[in-house]
This record gives sequence, structure tokens and C-alpha cells, in this order.
Amino acid sequence: MKTADAFGHSDDQQHYDVLVVGGGMVGATIACGLGQQGIRVAVFDHAEPSPLPADALPELRVSALSTASEAILRQLGAWPHMQSMRMTPYRRMAVWEKLHSPFGKTIDSRANRVLFDARQISHSQLGFIVENRVTQSGLLEAIKSCPSVSFFCPVNIQKIHTPSASPMIELSDGRRFSGDLLVGADGADSRVRQSAGLAMEQRDYEQQCLVATVEIAGGCQDITWQAFTPTGPEAFLPLPDINGKSYGSIVWYHHPERIRQLLALSSEAFIEALETTFPSELPEIIQLHQRGAFPIARRHVTEYFRQGVVLAGDAAHTINPLAGQGVNLGLQDAAWLIEILVDALRAGETPGSTEVLARYEKARRSENALMMNTMDAFYHTFSNQSKPLQFLRNLGLTVAGKLSPAVNQVMKYAMGLSGKQPRLATGKKYKFKIAAGD
Ligand SMILES: Cc1cc2nc3c(=O)[nH]c(=O)nc-3n(C[C@H](O)[C@H](O)[C@H](O)COP(=O)(O)OP(=O)(O)OC[C@H]3O[C@@H](n4cnc5c(N)ncnc54)[C@H](O)[C@@H]3O)c2cc1C
Repeated sequence: MKTADAFGHSDDQQHYDVLVVGGGMVGATIACGLGQQGIRVAVFDHAEPSPLPADALPELRVSALSTASEAILRQLGAWPHMQSMRMTPYRRMAVWEKLHSPFGKTIDSRANRVLFDARQISHSQLGFIVENRVTQSGLLEAIKSCPSVSFFCPVNIQKIHTPSASPMIELSDGRRFSGDLLVGADGADSRVRQSAGLAMEQRDYEQQCLVATVEIAGGCQDITWQAFTPTGPEAFLPLPDINGKSYGSIVWYHHPERIRQLLALSSEAFIEALETTFPSELPEIIQLHQRGAFPIARRHVTEYFRQGVVLAGDAAHTINPLAGQGVNLGLQDAAWLIEILVDALRAGETPGSTEVLARYEKARRSENALMMNTMDAFYHTFSNQSKPLQFLRNLGLTVAGKLSPAVNQVMKYAMGLSGKQPRLATGKKYKFKIAAGD
């Protein structure tokens, strides 16, 4: 059967080296990296990515992309497309615990505040706040110049045949595709994960996360901050100026009941609640544009792969978003998977073999678990209202704020500059290209 994809590429090919379910940030990265090596990839997504006009108001879903993620996206050629849309660099990041006096008033203490400044480690920024749609669009633009990648969307996947040495996808319109490997990059509710029978450990948190996009006074900010409270962090992320107006993203963690109440408030009452609750660092809010709530859960698959099928990004793990590391971990998954598959194909190995996929799990499981455990430690430490623990954590923040080697080390970890990096994140070029048709 003749097959036409979303880029207008048309061929009669039904067998690909790699099938990728999910063309979000992680799936698109995998397809782009493999496609640039001449590997034949078919990507399937049930939602069509819509264009983002330059003057559109900021999207609700934004991510803090680390320096390592920037390197990966630059190497793939997506970054210039993303820059031509919009993104906001942040040079500083502040973290502190909101303290209350015995009379219930917030104490404005700067002693327990840790300020991370990119200049301390000779960088111009700590990272970029980027709308998820900008990152996805940048990657899809980069994929357009990969003739070996086909993107099928919107499609409705009828059946997924895995695990198998020859995985297969059947669409509701009757088209069937086979591959040597099927990658599940289809997000937290991954259907690929379910089809492959890959089990997952899940731990829910007592908090939910409300995200709001607001117009602010005072111009574009270069700082992102997070104040810990016993009911969860209150955070601010800077967004780009659009048509001379400035914006910010508010992240408000609280118990589900309070989040429900906040969502039900009128815009005016919501802004008032923000202004009376959030720290004084909050810029003046001019207007509320959008708000939404997200459940948060820690999930990690017990196995990343079976024969012919492997998971990446949120399909394999979700993390408490309090330090905004979810997609950064997903992009690391993608970069390692690309590297391991390219090396395997160069060595004549089968990409879907358990030996090859075990290398990927080895590279990712402990790194992902370490970041999850670090976020859990923050969550549990700051949710605990015991007075001695409160004293100790504030002493810790005060001391940490004065120790520049410790602060610099934390900054490097958050920027993805510590630990072993995949080649794509180090800027090294691949030494070979697999010839199309091999
Ligand atoms: C409130 C909140 C704030 C966050 N903030 C940050 C942050 O600041 N920094 C950060 O790094 N991370 C953050 N994250 C996490 C981040 O958003 C995710 O880690 C990231 O979106 C995962 O990317 P992904 O490509 O794996 O999955 P997704 O973004 O979920 O993409 C999955 C793709 O698969 C497609 N798909 C799904 N099912 C099917 C199907 N059956 N058939 C075909 N296609 C399918 C979808 O349409 C989508 O395109 C946050 C998360 C939350 C909830």
C-alpha cells in the first residue's frame, strides 16, 4: 500500500528499522537523532502538532531545559528553529523555605536563601524556560531534512504487537508497519508499555501542581525561584516578552482539595490569592491568561525493555516536577538510546535484541532513579513540619548558601553537566553515517 506521511514524503515502505510511538519531545528527539544517521524511522502520533504563531500567548506547558538538553537539541539542529520562535534564558535561581512566625505571619528571611548564579561557574545562563510546543516544533523542523524519517499523524493505533523480534503496528485505517525495534515514547499513560506488559512502580504524592500563565509588570525576568512551604513549593518561571508585554509561569503545589478551590476562583480572586500567598518576590500580576492542574506521581518501570520493544521519557518514568527535570531526563534517555542503537547497527547487531537494549537500561536506570530519589528527599524534607527538622533544613540552606563549592556542584548537577554524558550532549560528532538502504 502507498504510504504518505505528514511531511508529504510518500513511499511504499512498510518495514522500518525503528518504529517510534509518540512524536512528543522525547520521541521526536529519538527519530531525529536516528534519522540523521540514515536509519529508517517511522514515527506515529495521535495528535497533530499545531503551529505556534509568533504573537500567540505563552503556552501553559513549559519546561526548564538544562545546558545538557540544550547541547542535545543544538547537535540535532533543532535549537536554531526553537530560538527563531522563542525561549527565555534564566541566569539565576533562588531556593528558600518560607518561614512563619508563631503569630502566623511570613518572615521575610534572606539568611536561609540559596542563590545559584550562572556567573559563578562562568556560564551565561543556568538554562532556558521553553514552551513544550516550541521544543517539539523545533525538532519536527529538524526532522523534515531527514529523508529516512516518516511522520504519521494524526493516526489511531489499533494494535501494537510486542514483545516480538519483529514488532508491528496496525492503524485503524488498515495500514500495518513492522520494524526491528519499537520505541514507546508515548508519555506517562504509555500504551506501548501496557502492550509490552512492562510493569511499573507508582507512588502518588499528597500534592497536586497548578500551573498558571500570567502577564506581569516590570519586564522579562532573568530569575526563577522556588519557596518551599509545608503544603508544597510556590514557584515562578520567567517567560518571554511578546508584543511588548511580559509573562511568567506560576507553579503552585498544594493538596488536591485546595487546588480544586483555586481552579474554581474567578481570575480576579485567583490573582488576589496569589498576591496574598506567594512570596514578595512575585512580580505585580496584570492579568491571568491560563491555568491548569496536573497530578504528580513518581513512576518507574521495573524493566525498560523486552525483546523488540523499549521505553523512553515519561513512558518509562515520571518524576516530581519540583526541580523541572522530567524532560531533561527524557532527552538523556533519547540521546543514550540513539548512541547505543547507532553503535549496535554499526557493529552489525540487531537493534531490538535484549543484549543491545540492556546497555540502554544500564545507562539510564540508575541515573533516572538518582534524580527521582533526590526529588523525593526534597519533597519529604520540606513537607515535614517537625520543628527540629525545620531548624536543621534551614541551617542546611543557610550554610549551603555560604559554601560556593557546594552551590557550584548542585548547579552543575541541575544543568546536567556532571556524570557521564552521551556523545550528543558533549557536542562530539558521530564518526560515521549508516548509508541509507544498508
Ligand atoms: C506540571 C508539570 C510541570 C513540568 N515541568 C517540567 C520542567 O520544568 N522541566 C522538565 O524537564 N519537565 C517538566 N515536566 C515534565 C515534562 O513535561 C515531561 O517529562 C515531558 O513532557 C515528557 O516528554 P515525553 O515526550 O516523554 O512525553 P509527552 O510530552 O507526554 O509526549 C508523548 C507523545 O506521545 C503521543 N501519544 C500518546 N499516546 C499515544 C498513542 N496511543 N498513539 C499515538 N501517539 C500517542 C502524544 O500525543 C505526545 O505527542 C513537567 C510535568 C508536569 C506535569
